[in-house]
Amino acid sequence: MPHKFRYHWTGDDGVSRSKTIVLHDDGGIAFAPTKAQRRMPTGDPAQREAKLAAHRAKLASYAAAEASLFSQGPVSDAVFAARTEPDGCGSCERRRESPRDPIGFCGECGCGTAIRAALTIKGRMPAATCPLDPPRWGAAEGEGAGALDRLKQLGGVAANLIDLVSRGPKRRAKEQHG
Ligand code: SF4
Repeated sequence: MPHKFRYHWTGDDGVSRSKTIVLHDDGGIAFAPTKAQRRMPTGDPAQREAKLAAHRAKLASYAAAEASLFSQGPVSDAVFAARTEPDGCGSCERRRESPRDPIGFCGECGCGTAIRAALTIKGRMPAATCPLDPPRWGAAEGEGAGALDRLKQLGGVAANLIDLVSRGPKRRAKEQHG
């Protein structure tokens, strides 16, 4: 049974957008074009395709990171600390401070300032990586055991996915169709 969640981000133009991402049971990830993309001017096809490809890559990367949090559980406190303390985001000039998150947001990855992109949450996702070249930190294993309880603490999308899964397909269908 595929799981859907909504991804919100702010583009380089400052406009907030969102997209539905579908995680399939076999690990596949799919998403549909946003209204903004469908309205995108046809101008230079190569340029448009390059923009779309870059956008798709960002979404796929984000979806993979969210999926890893769901399937593996969050990374350990030690990994999280290494990612976010002085050798990681803590001293990075691309980090953006925010009153919405104690660590802030990454100004390099293009994920914007939606709460799921906050480094407090993203730094816990096993498949998340720093976008710098070379990266300051990379993918790591999730803790696995007890992951669902830890995910509930992290809230947001992960908790929504747990809720969807724990209710089961029959109950979800009943809720959808009354
Ligand atoms: S993820 Fe990388 S680029 Fe972004 S703030 Fe952290 S260290 Fe900097």
